[in-house]
Amino acid sequence: MITISEVGPRDGVQSLDFLVDLDIKKRWVAAEAAAGVREIEVGSFVNYKRLPQMQDTAALVDFALGIPGLCVAVLVPNLRGAQTAVAAGVHKLSVPVSASETHSRNNVNRTHDQMIEEVRAIRALVDDQPEGARPSIEVGVATAFGCTMEGHVPERTVVALAERLMEAGASEVGLSDTTGYADPGMIRSRVTAVQRAVGAGNITGVHLHNTRGLGLANALAALECGLTTLDASLGGLGGCPFAPGASGNIVTEDLVFMLEAMGHATDIDLPALIEVRKALAADLPGSPLYGFVADAGLPLDFAPPSEAASLAGTQA
Ligand code: ZN
Repeated sequence: MITISEVGPRDGVQSLDFLVDLDIKKRWVAAEAAAGVREIEVGSFVNYKRLPQMQDTAALVDFALGIPGLCVAVLVPNLRGAQTAVAAGVHKLSVPVSASETHSRNNVNRTHDQMIEEVRAIRALVDDQPEGARPSIEVGVATAFGCTMEGHVPERTVVALAERLMEAGASEVGLSDTTGYADPGMIRSRVTAVQRAVGAGNITGVHLHNTRGLGLANALAALECGLTTLDASLGGLGGCPFAPGASGNIVTEDLVFMLEAMGHATDIDLPALIEVRKALAADLPGSPLYGFVADAGLPLDFAPPSEAASLAGTQA
């Protein structure tokens, strides 16, 4: 089973230049969960003066926690955000730590050493909670494939940071192609190197952007390395201000199509997901959505893996 983590309500919405109503976000989260999406990053606990788009995160978390079976994730850049998230009762904390020092200082105003200490403090906070109320801490190594400020980010920097983050108390680490610099060769090389360093069980996911059109190729490379969690956003919402026409995150519905066509079950009802995209498009007039499957339609003989298996069973 491959887990698709929908990050549109956080990553996609964050880069829009207008505020999205809480009601729209609620409808979107509920509809995607109903289509079978099991994990959604609904927002972030950050400084709302810098990111007003995220100011309703607490309300959206509260709403999402009422959806049975849904893993509710939020992004937190520091201990303060983690305290709010833990108090809100989220299931998963997503903590970005940039492999590029320059990006880290610009983005969260902290060096690597300071971010490692932040992760250690978040671990202590989580361990202080009663059993059953301890969210998992997934640290995403941001700019893991290159940085718009530093350019090349050496693989050994990424591997060393992943090791230190695990030692500081991360439940697992993931690699994020924040800038859309990754290619399938880099994905293979870096994911394998991190797997070797921290153990394959401690890296399960990647966060990919489709900035240069390699999103799905990169997702496939990650899958072939054995990763099982892929971040994506419905309709590739968010876009990329530096690359007009390029979607933001990889497109959830195209990713589901690729996986299911290859026989990987996702438990997501693809026609239902395409309907959610239509509803989102109607709710956000003027924001371009990206991707291909919704416009092209599904192939005539398309059958989701579970159905394909039961059809095969009938024939046997
Ligand atoms: Zn992103």
